[in-house]
Amino acid sequence: MEGFSRYYDKRSNEWIDVDLFNEEDREIIRNQFDAEFPGVINELDALFNECWQTFSEDHPDIEKPPYCPVLLDEAWGVCVHSRDEKKAVILVNAKIVTEHDDPENAKDIIYHELCHLIYKHDHNREFWDELDKYDHIFKKQKQEAIENNQKEFQELLEEI
Ligand SMILES: [Zn+2]
Repeated sequence: MEGFSRYYDKRSNEWIDVDLFNEEDREIIRNQFDAEFPGVINELDALFNECWQTFSEDHPDIEKPPYCPVLLDEAWGVCVHSRDEKKAVILVNAKIVTEHDDPENAKDIIYHELCHLIYKHDHNREFWDELDKYDHIFKKQKQEAIENNQKEFQELLEEI
């Protein structure tokens, strides 16, 4: 089965098989996450949507993929393609929010998976060039944030 996964349901104490390409199944996982880690889904949604916004401006022809929070030990994110390669679903490891305190790292992971919508299976030169574009965008945003903070701090000092 494509997009097959399983998760442990604490209420029934059993493993449940889910199809990640099925919206209702993804909803089950989201609800479970929301119950277990309150607030994490909202943070992930915000990060994913922000990255998608930037990515889609460069790639208006690409359809927004569904994404799903997961808890994995072996990867921060995964881009799963259907066998016919017409569909993709992005799995985002919720640990990017719970274990990374720097949202820039989390965005880096999401951009990485979004780039796999174009370069599906490998990390070739073109893949890294594509990812590099977003790296520059958020480095610039980060720099601007630092400068704004310094400006505010300076103004604060002047007031004193
Ligand atoms: Zn990759």
